[in-house]
Amino acid sequence: MSTLTQKIIGYDLWHLELPVTSRRDHGIGSVEGVCEVVVVRLTSEDGTQGFGEASPWSVFTGTPEATYAALNRYLRPLVMGARVADRAAIMSRAAYAVAHCTEAKAALETALLDLAGRISAVPVWSLLGGKCRDAIPLSCSIANPDFSQDIDLLARLREDGVRIVKLKTGFKDHAFDIMRLEYLAQNCPELSVRVDYNQGLSIEDAPVQVRDVAQFKPDFIEQPVRAHHYGMMAKLRQMTDVPLLADESVFGPEDMERAAREDICDGVSVKIMKSGGLTRGQTVARIAAAHGLSVYGGDMFEAGLAHLAGTHMIAATPEITLGCEFYQASYFLAEDILEQPFEVNRGEVVVPDGPGLGARPDLSKLDHFAVSKAVAA
Ligand SMILES: [Mg+2]
Repeated sequence: MSTLTQKIIGYDLWHLELPVTSRRDHGIGSVEGVCEVVVVRLTSEDGTQGFGEASPWSVFTGTPEATYAALNRYLRPLVMGARVADRAAIMSRAAYAVAHCTEAKAALETALLDLAGRISAVPVWSLLGGKCRDAIPLSCSIANPDFSQDIDLLARLREDGVRIVKLKTGFKDHAFDIMRLEYLAQNCPELSVRVDYNQGLSIEDAPVQVRDVAQFKPDFIEQPVRAHHYGMMAKLRQMTDVPLLADESVFGPEDMERAAREDICDGVSVKIMKSGGLTRGQTVARIAAAHGLSVYGGDMFEAGLAHLAGTHMIAATPEITLGCEFYQASYFLAEDILEQPFEVNRGEVVVPDGPGLGARPDLSKLDHFAVSKAVAA
């Protein structure tokens, strides 16, 4: 029964704690020790399986506990017994079954797409409109409070052919940010440099500090102030020639409409964990492009399964032109959860052509890193 009319009869969950190799400081908080993700597995009547990952961060999108509960209690009843073919209906009901919990909805849509792709023997990008690129330039974030460790990381990145870095700023002090920008300008002139404050600046400090940083001519400066400070974002945009990117200010298409209307940014970071899925991520990108804004492929603290979902979305969305930041599986996690490594070649993420997402998680790793799970025997 290899058709999309078959029903979904299995729904399993794992809440994972994945050890990480370094500390990352961002404007709104830090990650150290482990990062937490939730994996969902759907099984159809013929035994085909589709996987999806939710990658929450409590200070940014939401908590792993809420994500797990959303998937386990509120979304499960919409999926069990539904037809694989009815993805749009399931996602449209999911939007109202539980408020927010965008990471859970992203994981669900990913798993539905992976399942449909595997049953139909086509890649997820083909279900999202077809492919516009075979590879996506990779940006790696420089976010270690111990900059000497990031200098080692920079050497590794250059050896691997990575040509873009994003400096995380606004978590210590302005002098630390300027020192690191000077280091990059002097020692890594071939690298494209982007700057991301992750909401780290107060509205009092933002104008002066952003003006200083703009003198280094980064590709863009991302989200200097709190998500809801739309007025200050608009003011900062007017103040500098360097493009201003919105990240935390824009979750879904509804935010994108308002951001464009209020002229708060020159571009936006699209993330499936913010938009609540790949389809809604594409919608954000298209609204941005329609308003003449550029689009970047952002991510959260993700494992390779979520990277794959983002990769397929970007592969099918020509509006996303600024590359991606799917670096965690290769440069941050002690061990990824995929059966085979998330593929990066000479600084570019490779778009998979196999059925579904093109790779699947290693079940022994899911069990090994699980702190809780709901898996049918
Ligand atoms: Mg950001």
